[in-house]
Amino acid sequence: MEIKNCILKVDGNEYPAIGFGTYRLTGEICRNAVSEAIQTGYRIIDTAAYYTNFASIAEALKGHDREQFYLISKVWHDMQEPDNIRLDFEKALRELETDYLDAYLIHWPNSKIPIEKSLGAMRDLPVRHIGLSNVTVNHMRRALEAGIMISWVQVEMHPLFYDNALLKFCQNHGIGHQAWRPLNQGRLQDDELLATIGIKYNKTASQIALRWILQHGSIPIPGSKTALHIRENFQIQDFSLSDEEMLKINARAAAGTRVRLTGKHGFLDEFDFSYEECWPRKSL
Ligand code: NAD
Repeated sequence: MEIKNCILKVDGNEYPAIGFGTYRLTGEICRNAVSEAIQTGYRIIDTAAYYTNFASIAEALKGHDREQFYLISKVWHDMQEPDNIRLDFEKALRELETDYLDAYLIHWPNSKIPIEKSLGAMRDLPVRHIGLSNVTVNHMRRALEAGIMISWVQVEMHPLFYDNALLKFCQNHGIGHQAWRPLNQGRLQDDELLATIGIKYNKTASQIALRWILQHGSIPIPGSKTALHIRENFQIQDFSLSDEEMLKINARAAAGTRVRLTGKHGFLDEFDFSYEECWPRKSL
């Protein structure tokens, strides 16, 4: 798995190194947004059972060659026992109208289910690559200890927060890295530092954010229902940030803090990112 000249190469296949995120896109809005993304050139599409939009994505993919696309889905924390994983995966295939997934990730690890159990079940499914989302180096070590090959991690990363230790760990172990919330939910469009850097390249603050991620060797997966933004976000291949600009953004992002979940997602915060032991040991 490598990114070269803004192209992601996986097992001999090539895709533009930017994914289209579909969180909060459902129904016709999702179908139209994904169609627009496909027309723009996106080939990596990120979804999850939690997003309830498989059927809309399937509609947008109709008439296109399935093999040209890299489809990612994620299993929610309440479906991570092996039998449930199979059900979740089958539902994804059925509703996405496909007979395989390119990547299947654990969305938020469930602290009550041993990682090797869930990953082991995922390995037996018709999926090219498996991976983890919302993890730290601690979790990765634990997963690798279990001897299961992981191809991807998908974590929060944008110019106001990144986990550089995890990024380096992934690079050292040949594990691909995907950046969720790459625009900090659109709020980076008014960021002063990014906007100032953008003037030099005739790019928006959002494009600078995405380019910073890409230059770190990570795949940004921005989402939008607006055609203008969908196209804007894709135009990050024709310029490069200088080392000095990268370092400036790094310094600020390294000092940031990750998102904590509240409200209806509060239950996921039981999953404390600072824990040494992230999943119960096999013996538990
Ligand atoms: P994002 O940073 O991609 O922001 C999306 C929002 O930003 C859009 O709704 C739109 O309002 C705005 N926007 C998009 N492009 C813009 C532009 N060029 N200028 C100004 N505003 C713009 O945040 P996100 O949607 O939360 O994350 C992206 C994707 O990451 C999701 O769709 C999903 O696929 C994935 N994700 C995964 C997890 C996980 O737990 N694995 C969590 C969150 C998101």
